[in-house]
Amino acid sequence: MRPFPILALAAFAVAPSALLAQSNPTNDSVVAKIYDEGMHHSQAPRLAQVLMDSIGPRLTGSAANRAANDWLLRTYKAWGIDAKNEQYGTWRDWTRGVSGLSLISPRTRVLEATMHAWSATTPVGGVTADVVVPPPASEVGDSAGFARWLAGVKGKLVLISVPQVSCRPDSDIKFWADSAVYAHARAERDSVARDWQARFAAAHVNPRTFPQMLERAGAAGVLSNTWSRGWGVDKIQSARASTIPSFDVSCEDYSLLARLAEHGQHPRVHAVAEATVAPKESPVFNTVAQIRGTEKPSEYVMLSAHLDSWDTGSGATDNGTGTITMLEAMRILKLSYPHPKRTILVGHWSGEEEGDIGSNAFAADHPEVLKGLQVLFNQDNGTGEIDTVQTNGFVNAAPALARWMSAMPLDLLKNVTLMTPGVAHNESTDSDAFDCRNAPGIFLTSSDWSYTDYTWHTQRDTYDKVNFDEVERNATMIAEFAYEASEDPNMIARTPRVPGVGRRGGAAGVPACDQAPRSWATATRR
Ligand SMILES: [Zn+2]
Repeated sequence: MRPFPILALAAFAVAPSALLAQSNPTNDSVVAKIYDEGMHHSQAPRLAQVLMDSIGPRLTGSAANRAANDWLLRTYKAWGIDAKNEQYGTWRDWTRGVSGLSLISPRTRVLEATMHAWSATTPVGGVTADVVVPPPASEVGDSAGFARWLAGVKGKLVLISVPQVSCRPDSDIKFWADSAVYAHARAERDSVARDWQARFAAAHVNPRTFPQMLERAGAAGVLSNTWSRGWGVDKIQSARASTIPSFDVSCEDYSLLARLAEHGQHPRVHAVAEATVAPKESPVFNTVAQIRGTEKPSEYVMLSAHLDSWDTGSGATDNGTGTITMLEAMRILKLSYPHPKRTILVGHWSGEEEGDIGSNAFAADHPEVLKGLQVLFNQDNGTGEIDTVQTNGFVNAAPALARWMSAMPLDLLKNVTLMTPGVAHNESTDSDAFDCRNAPGIFLTSSDWSYTDYTWHTQRDTYDKVNFDEVERNATMIAEFAYEASEDPNMIARTPRVPGVGRRGGAAGVPACDQAPRSWATATRR
């Protein structure tokens, strides 16, 4: 998911103490059983270690994505829970091989670099090439000058991102520097960014389509950097070019290459990019499991988290933690509440990172689930304790949620805020696929735990970043939510929030449902 902008959270917040003041102490044995199983007998660390370390990152369409589907299936079956892998389409089937960049001149250094997902490969043995940088506007002059420069990139590795003056986070500079030094450091960053943009503006070149120009010009590959503004972290997603290799180079090493090239010190790099690509697209699946309802089997309480991830790190907090949370919640429920009134269903989606594709496909393919949906709980922003229950614009959802929360043990909820009425989101995470179809998808937001800067889509999104005390509490809370939602005699009313008014009149702030592309070939965004 993308972190929500602060504005999207603008809503009325109910303090948990206000909720709990209305609650009656419960001696409900199921509540107590769920709590005991989740908090004292958690399987989350063991499950997460297999998913994150052994299966690893789960790029949509890859063999690892399917291995994760199969592992979930086996795990559910071992617990006596019905599960299936439901194919919703096909996707490019790419698996990372060995890759790396080494500076070989003017000195030797192994560079910290990660091949982008779906990158093209180098010839066997790799390539050794000069590294070049687009020239400054003052040298290029105009588009004719740029074209002359472009003619010389054949066989070279080209830097396509702005280099950083410093890879020291601004917060660190601010901590150590006086205000004048800090202001100067910020001004230098801004000046370099403006200079970089000017190189393309002077030549009338769109930086977004620059990689394709380089492919046509015969470049050996593209090197980029998407610094995440923390120590040693980059956002690393899909390849910037389709026919030549594409690497993210860490902020420090990218900036080193840029300085060497700018100062005429002729950096030369050996690049290896190996990957296997299936000749045809392969099937992509959502894993769906259920504990069938005994009284109202065609009414559903749904748990939701995407299984796919970007192909750096291990997809630990995006969204291994959500996956493990929902898996563990189902295990707890099967042991503590094996005969629910409503059917408890879980969706482990693929294709979220490419635009909530798996969840949108499921919602489009299962009108019966949308019709009978009591509520869906989605979690997708990392390892932190759930601190906000967002009702996403369903104005009458809050009383039911407050009632359910009031029946839970206090320590599960001591830091939780119920955000109501909230707003519907668009293309942020999988609950959107349900909200846009007027089926209540609730988003459970976790406290950040440096997700935004450090783990979200970065190469540092690994098992060690998971805090299992938090994950165990989250799984227990979600199992309690599922129990209460299943038992409630009433369904949540689906009254949507009154939409905003656009600048030119008409409704605003009402997200449209995405049409899930069913193949890589028909997708517009990857
Ligand atoms: Zn995510």
